[in-house]
Amino acid sequence: RRMGWAVCGLGHFAQNYAVPAIDRAAESKLTGLISGNRDKALGVASAWGVPEGSVYDYGMQGLADNDAVDIVYVITPNAIHEENVIAALEAGKHVFCEKPFAHNSAAAQRMMDAAKAADRKIMIAYRAHFEPNNVALKEMVQKGELGDIWYATSDHHRPLDPSVERDQWRMVRGLAGGGSLMDIGIYSLNGLIWLLDEMPERLVATTFSPQTEDGRFGEIEAIGQVQLIFPSRRRASISSGYVADKKRIDLWGSKAVAVLDPATAYSGNKLTLSTAEGEETPMPSKPSEQQFVGEIDHFSKAVRDGMEILTPAEMGLRDMRLLEAIYVSAERGEWIEVNPDGTMR
Ligand code: NAD
Repeated sequence: RRMGWAVCGLGHFAQNYAVPAIDRAAESKLTGLISGNRDKALGVASAWGVPEGSVYDYGMQGLADNDAVDIVYVITPNAIHEENVIAALEAGKHVFCEKPFAHNSAAAQRMMDAAKAADRKIMIAYRAHFEPNNVALKEMVQKGELGDIWYATSDHHRPLDPSVERDQWRMVRGLAGGGSLMDIGIYSLNGLIWLLDEMPERLVATTFSPQTEDGRFGEIEAIGQVQLIFPSRRRASISSGYVADKKRIDLWGSKAVAVLDPATAYSGNKLTLSTAEGEETPMPSKPSEQQFVGEIDHFSKAVRDGMEILTPAEMGLRDMRLLEAIYVSAERGEWIEVNPDGTMR
């Protein structure tokens, strides 16, 4: 049977990407909505065929009795994930949680404790793991087609626009947990660890917040920059920003340099290889949109059939710890050593 999904938080990403993807997914269907704005939620419900009785407010009163909902997909501001994730778990539902898992590692740990107590699963929405061009690159690395990779870079930047609602909470540290590093730098960090299949053991970071008249970077960093050293001794350099618009990953192999540009866009991601002989080969591009349905159906199958979750809560917690180590390094201006679970040594 197709798993029933309720979307919690009906903002920009939820309405434009999450809800349509659940509707397209073969193993999943939209059976509920959770929102603080009932009129908006009823509009979305009628557009996508969700019964009025399956529209809840954030308290999720009555959700436990709704057998048509198996999974709650939490898409609220980062610091508001926790209360919704815990309410969903307490209603007996499994949880698909947007990245970053939380605004700090303590909140991530509390959600995992609640999942354990409720005997329910949590998956983190790291969509790049299901994006076909990213997956193609991962397979090339695994087969050794790039040769030795002793250096990698990843840069995730997009302009923060204070005039749009979805960027207003991103300017508030208490709601976002941080700036560009937390929001999109996490793609650089999570992406490289996944592609290289190795956790860094040392890192050093700097952050920068230029002063603007509107004060958009008053509480959060605009730019983040991190150097990583891995147990294999390879190096990586990642950056994030809220000014330019570019998302790319470069793996600097001895046989070929692979460039994903864009790397983690919603559509149109592209993989190109350049060899030492100066040849540039664009790889056949694959439909990026598949990433949304891919991650959603993956979790439906994990819940229904007990399949292993590729991007579990443990990965989300590890990344929250790494982000905390990055902020500590930036504040102290020091190298920080980290354990395989992301905790500071
Ligand atoms: P958004 O502002 O458009 O949506 C957030 C929703 O949460 C809004 O409907 C808002 O009304 C609601 N909300 C509930 N409690 C709130 C509170 N206390 N303060 C403010 N709003 C509250 O934001 P978004 O861009 O859709 O981001 C939501 C989440 O999704 C974030 O965690 C973000 O990191 C994640 N996201 C992921 C992707 C992705 O590609 N996977 C893309 C965008 C956003």
